[in-house]
Amino acid sequence: MADGAKTLLMLSGGPDSATLASLVDRELPAGAKAAAVYLCSGHPVDDRQIDAANRILGRIGGRLEIIVVTEFLNAIHADPVMRQAAAPFVPFGGAIALSIMTLYAIKSRSAAVYVGLHREDVEERQEFARQSIDRLESLAAADRHDAPKIITPFLDMTKAEVLKLGASMDVPYALTWSCARADAIHCGQCGSCRARRRGFADAGLADPTRYRA
Ligand SMILES: [Zn+2]
Repeated sequence: MADGAKTLLMLSGGPDSATLASLVDRELPAGAKAAAVYLCSGHPVDDRQIDAANRILGRIGGRLEIIVVTEFLNAIHADPVMRQAAAPFVPFGGAIALSIMTLYAIKSRSAAVYVGLHREDVEERQEFARQSIDRLESLAAADRHDAPKIITPFLDMTKAEVLKLGASMDVPYALTWSCARADAIHCGQCGSCRARRRGFADAGLADPTRYRA
């Protein structure tokens, strides 16, 4: 990463992006901080995720920037972009989210956007395959010489492998939020909670999460 270049990362407040935040923090030159961006879709769980994102940043520094896409989603009668894994998706929702990040990077003069997508994300949505992301990057670069790189360090890793990497960096997973419900603690039953539980179990790590059931 070039000195002086700004760096963005998508931070959802979940364990994958928390791991990404720690990784990026380690890779940046001393004293440099990435700008973390939360895409706010108007989902009831936004508040929980934003709290989690701020707590994560509280450990490593950096500021959280919130891009509100609620009105846009309302206008197309869509469910939130990049929302919980068990929920129905917006057609092209992943590409839309990455496009918003690309545009924001251009506007904020950032050379790179880091995204914590992993192998299961690709299995769920081909939009997140590297070749799809390469196409998006090329499209932006054809129009703008200052289009950012979209960097996905975990794309070939399982969630369990991401969690193992994070554990080696002491990522504070107890601070992260996965549940699709906006309750005080994780429900333990929704698709996101199940993926979280399975990830820790497959990684052979103690799960620090309080689940209701
Ligand atoms: Zn849940």
